[in-house]
Amino acid sequence: MGRHFFARSGWGDGIVDTIIKNGKIYIERGRFAEALRISDGVVASMGTDDEILASAQQGCRVIDAGGRTVLPGMNDSHMHLSYVGEWLSTLDLAGIRSPDEIVKKGREYLAAHPEAHERGIMGVGWNQDLFDGEKRVLNRRDLDRISRDIPIVLRRVCGHSSAANSKAIEISGLTADSPQPEGGVFDIEDGEITGVFKENASRLIEQTIKPHTHAERKNFLRAGIARCKSVGLTSVQSNDASEKTSGETFAMLKELFADEELQIRYRHQITFLEESDLLEYLKTERLDPVYLGNMLTAGPLKLFKDGSLGARTALRREDYRDDPGNRGVDCLPAEQMDRLCRIASDNGMQVMTHAIGDGAISQTLDAYAKIMPGGRNALRHAVNHCQITDMPLLRRIADMGVLVMAQPIFINTDLHVIAARAGQEMASTSYAFGTLERLGAHVSYGTDSPIEDCDPFKCIYAAVTRKDLNGTPPGGYAPDGRVDVASAVDAYTYESAYAEFKEDVKGRLKPGYLADLIIIDRDIFSIPPDEIKDVKADLTMAGGEVIYERG
Ligand SMILES: [Zn+2]
Repeated sequence: MGRHFFARSGWGDGIVDTIIKNGKIYIERGRFAEALRISDGVVASMGTDDEILASAQQGCRVIDAGGRTVLPGMNDSHMHLSYVGEWLSTLDLAGIRSPDEIVKKGREYLAAHPEAHERGIMGVGWNQDLFDGEKRVLNRRDLDRISRDIPIVLRRVCGHSSAANSKAIEISGLTADSPQPEGGVFDIEDGEITGVFKENASRLIEQTIKPHTHAERKNFLRAGIARCKSVGLTSVQSNDASEKTSGETFAMLKELFADEELQIRYRHQITFLEESDLLEYLKTERLDPVYLGNMLTAGPLKLFKDGSLGARTALRREDYRDDPGNRGVDCLPAEQMDRLCRIASDNGMQVMTHAIGDGAISQTLDAYAKIMPGGRNALRHAVNHCQITDMPLLRRIADMGVLVMAQPIFINTDLHVIAARAGQEMASTSYAFGTLERLGAHVSYGTDSPIEDCDPFKCIYAAVTRKDLNGTPPGGYAPDGRVDVASAVDAYTYESAYAEFKEDVKGRLKPGYLADLIIIDRDIFSIPPDEIKDVKADLTMAGGEVIYERG
């Protein structure tokens, strides 16, 4: 960026303190400091420039914030870090406006990626709601126009359904007579598989694409870390470990940590469907002392109760308005959920559950009620996503003290379909993150990246304005659910730290807290709300070390 952040006031050996001066350093709502001193990776003191500079030791490093705003490092409370990196090397179909254009993109990708002839093509991010003409899902005939010789699977933006070509279906061995998998559906028309695979069925078809190598997957994590620190994230809570792949994922993160490549703080959100796998994890991996610090930690059991709103697989208590007879997909039968929750609870393990539809949220609360002794949520069980809600459901979440891990950036896409899917009345109390906060619930923010970009400022913009990134609608969707900027920043920092039991060590800039912070390019507290989406991190620091500077 051409500015000089560092001015040494002398020479010293070994560890030196760092001072940030001339800043607007956010302490908490309405309170700011001018300067802070960092010692040993931790905030040592805060005050005016004069006070802090007077306490400076010989040779300490001074960063001039140039009057800019300083925030605690952002903490994404739910994402998929390895897939953030994978996305960058993948056939990306986000924002495409027609099946024809998808075919064209697929052919170009195949021409540019010779390895795809070996591996097949896994594409991601299409959304039929954005199509100019008929808003229909992709089928095998569309994909066969890219190639019939290699398997091709194109995952919808929500990650809960996929389209496959004839070669992939052939390799899978599935026919119209095959039994439907538990917790999933593949569509059949005129005695033929159409190529539309939903929920657990999409996993079956995705297996026809050759998996990446260990080296490739580790590079995906590195690329994800690079992307995160460039947008101001110093902590991520990430669901990469899943059932059979979990061993390799645990190992890769530990390797990156040991080699000092991790750079941002990482908390595992771990998916198990089999009780035996969960029990094995609790007896082995979870006890590894590597997880005892603040850099790499073992987090909650991550369950999936339903699908997505876009694919109409979110579990509803009533029919979809635009698909009568459909109430979505229940991905986790209540008895199995109860058994997994019981094991977690007996072992002091937090549970978070993907629940988007009102039916899924309600049943998740039922399951949590059974593992909250005395009605207290001591293990901080959480609902992830929490999108389709009415007021009684919102009150129940707050009354039970169940945490919400929210992704306000979903409003960008979903505000255009929510009323059609769920009706105007339900839409007016959905994505109600501000309402939840005012009811006293703990609400943390994240992006579910790569479902959405991991930039926290686009997400804060969506929470504050409730508009899409084009500024529509001008008054905001269901504006009662709005929050102010301080609440949104707190949700991304303090509340995300609370969700991982770390609110005493990070999420604020106060003496004794980890020196995880960002200097941003404009004052988020005073710019017009429409500009918040353009805020950039100029400098990102974790544990007192500068890990990113904008060029
Ligand atoms: Zn997710």
